[in-house]
Amino acid sequence: MESGGETAIVVAVAALRAAVDALVAASPIPLSDDEFAALMRETEKVTRQLDAVKTGFVDETRRRDLPGKANVSSAALYLEQSLRLSRADACRRVRVADKLAVRRLPGQVLEPELAVVAQAQRAGDISADHITRILRVMDRLPGSLDIDRREAAEVCLAEYASTGWPDDVRKLGEDILRRVDPDGTLCRDSDRQRMRGITVGTQRVDGMSPLIGELTPELRAVFEPVLAKLARPGMCNPEDPESPRTSAESTDRERLEAAAGRDTRTAAQRNHDALLAFLRFEMDPAVPGTHRGLPVGTILTMSLTDLENRSGVATTASGGTLSIGEAVRLAANSTRYLAVFDEAGMPLHLGRGNNRLAGKAQRLALIAAEKGCTRPNCTAPATLSAVHHVTEWSQGGRTDIENLTLACDSCHALVHDGPGGWKTVKLGADSRFPGRTGWIAPPHLNPSGIPQVNHRHHPGELMAATMSRIQARNAAERQRLKEWLNRRHTTPTPTTE
Ligand SMILES: [Zn+2]
Repeated sequence: MESGGETAIVVAVAALRAAVDALVAASPIPLSDDEFAALMRETEKVTRQLDAVKTGFVDETRRRDLPGKANVSSAALYLEQSLRLSRADACRRVRVADKLAVRRLPGQVLEPELAVVAQAQRAGDISADHITRILRVMDRLPGSLDIDRREAAEVCLAEYASTGWPDDVRKLGEDILRRVDPDGTLCRDSDRQRMRGITVGTQRVDGMSPLIGELTPELRAVFEPVLAKLARPGMCNPEDPESPRTSAESTDRERLEAAAGRDTRTAAQRNHDALLAFLRFEMDPAVPGTHRGLPVGTILTMSLTDLENRSGVATTASGGTLSIGEAVRLAANSTRYLAVFDEAGMPLHLGRGNNRLAGKAQRLALIAAEKGCTRPNCTAPATLSAVHHVTEWSQGGRTDIENLTLACDSCHALVHDGPGGWKTVKLGADSRFPGRTGWIAPPHLNPSGIPQVNHRHHPGELMAATMSRIQARNAAERQRLKEWLNRRHTTPTPTTE
């Protein structure tokens, strides 16, 4: 046999080389903005697909035992030397190939360990960063986890990664880990309590002191609302004498907006100033502040199923999560909001300490149901979102809960009738997500015009939907298998040897 001058893969790589040479020489300048953006997306997709090809090559390197033949101790070292890779990159590629390449046993080829993620990689839907984060989550799943849940976690992560950002995969993963590990065998509340601590380091010659620490979910849940209010741009700025200093002053919207326009501090500097202002001005509980119409306080939401099972997670309005046990402990302190939802997402309990909900119930219900900005993939938590009409007031939209939704300021600004504007609709009973707010992207972003919901704040819902799909599929498979066995049993065998 000839050594493959014209085999398909060699021809394909030569063609790829020629195409890339042409691409490098070509100019994108004559394209319209839309055409250029589409071109850039397509190029990104192709680059990601090439990663899948390279994953296959790593596997082939091992099948041929090239490391052994070159007298190199590992596949990673072989790749590092032959392709001039960094150690970290070579190790990462081998790790990815372990999970995403087909598995070869003598006489047979098996599906990759993570077949769904491998498929997403081949389709060019996910990047190397997505994959790294997905592998990290999958590695942390308990070894004793049943196969359905393991697959559900993988499908969930792969589906989310196909439309979401790599950084969100980590957060979704944390939620999945809590859900698949209701007994807390991975990390118990007691482990977290052991890890907690805040250290104010030695003051340096320049007067500054380092602060390091590990916050429990509980402390984070009460700390974040403080930052959400006092660390907003424009608030508590020591360089700006006109900047509002307290919650009460923050209600002067014009003053705050003007101060925000002058604010040049970093997020870390704003957090620092917020902590200072909180300790100086807000420690008096007789002066309750407000943030976007709600008193400062932690808003906890959880589903009834999770509460009954003492599994899963509760969510805070600023996007943090706590175990149900921690949430119940925190909610017992009566100055906080607690919202519990049944399976259909209807509020069973909207409680708030000793005070009445008057006037705030709609916003509270929205925070509990939507948890944050509803535009697909927006990460803004409820504390950075405001209540908006789905059908604008000016166009006859009523201030009913059915016509209200949460959106952050920048997303809300995207909704308009002009060119490039987004539209919002409430999804009907026939939708996969009834009652949720669907966002219709302008044609240059998504020509399909199909409304999309934001899964960013509802990772549990994604996991539940995936689980029930997998269980239904497995039940169907079992049924088919049973029927097949029955047929075999009843059909007379045509011949015997
Ligand atoms: Zn948003």
